[in-house]
Amino acid sequence: MYKTKGYAAFSASAPLAPYEIQRRSPKKHDVVIAIDYCGVCHSDLHQVKNEWASAVYPMVPGHEIVGRVIEIGTAVSKFKVGDLAGVGCLVDSCRTCNDCLQGQEQFCDYGRVGTYNSIEKDGVTRTFGGYSQSIVVDENFTLKIPSNLELSKVAPLLCAGITTYSPLKHWNIGPGKKVGVVGLGGLGHMAVKFAKAFGAKVSVFSRSEKKKADALKLGADEVILTNSPDKIILSHNKSFDMIIDTVSAPHDLNLFLQLLKRDGSCVLLGLPDIEPTINIAHLIMGRKNLSGSLIGGIAETQEMLDFCSAHNITCEVELISPEKINEAFERMMKSDVHYRFVLDMKTL
Ligand code: NAP
Ligand code: ZN
Ligand code: ZN
Repeated sequence: MYKTKGYAAFSASAPLAPYEIQRRSPKKHDVVIAIDYCGVCHSDLHQVKNEWASAVYPMVPGHEIVGRVIEIGTAVSKFKVGDLAGVGCLVDSCRTCNDCLQGQEQFCDYGRVGTYNSIEKDGVTRTFGGYSQSIVVDENFTLKIPSNLELSKVAPLLCAGITTYSPLKHWNIGPGKKVGVVGLGGLGHMAVKFAKAFGAKVSVFSRSEKKKADALKLGADEVILTNSPDKIILSHNKSFDMIIDTVSAPHDLNLFLQLLKRDGSCVLLGLPDIEPTINIAHLIMGRKNLSGSLIGGIAETQEMLDFCSAHNITCEVELISPEKINEAFERMMKSDVHYRFVLDMKTL
């Protein structure tokens, strides 16, 4: 067993505080990873605050994990001690259903195990995430991390990266396509980078005027301020092939549906706790699609990491020590993130 220091939430309202957990001894196919860095996703904040009504405390959040392998099980073939390794939002699934067999483990209904606030397939053991010094994960759910990228800037690829890469691939974004990205936070800034890397024209929709210069530096072709009068926003009517909505709070989707071309898709990634009201006419007039997307499977996550390695793509991060996690959450609630907080777990 590995005694591991970390940070945990003890209720929906109390600040996170130090907490010690026990990691299992490695089973045959397990790797033990000493965690160097863990990204702070807005999903961590939703979960800690019990906004998805499924929180079990104490909860150690964190699903954007990178580090080094320090021990391996007897049957591990993919990793050796000393290798870089990463873990995203999933640590197991049933591995036999159609979704799993097609590499879409994130949609497995029968045995999907989240990296934290979840139950292992034994039905009793709770999972604890990457706001901690180490983690023990099956090699089949552990990612190979490219060595040519700055490790702290790679960590958020394990969630923010794959969550934006996957829908852009699924909806065939490439040259000649126009993509809108709503909300310039952790997911939003990676959506801009990937959409540009795939050759699309990219517009950012943001409430934050002060993020405008950054958005253009990240590669956006234009920034449309969502607090502008509707008539200015609607001048972009029927011009987008795809709009990726990464907003973490309730907001009006109808404006964005109007901006889609015929057959265009608005893909929701953000998961606020209040349902939106949709004007169905905006979908009917133009045969438009309203969809969602959930992270990505393990093979696609590896593909995304390899793509980032080949194209030198990483996240824009603010590296902080784990003691600053409550401050980071406060700033995240104010959309004051540039553009992902990453915890330096080595300093714990
Ligand atoms: P984040 O870094 O906090 O960014 C969210 C952005 O949304 C903010 O930067 C802000 O952008 C905008 N925003 C926030 N509140 C808003 C409001 N009231 N009205 C309009 N815009 C607002 O969050 P994140 O980590 O990117 O996560 C975004 C959402 O995706 C969360 O709900 C998270 O749980 C979800 N998520 C989903 C998946 C999935 O698989 N589908 C995976 C990971 C995360 P501006 O300042 O530019 O306006
Ligand atoms: Zn996440
Ligand atoms: Zn399955």
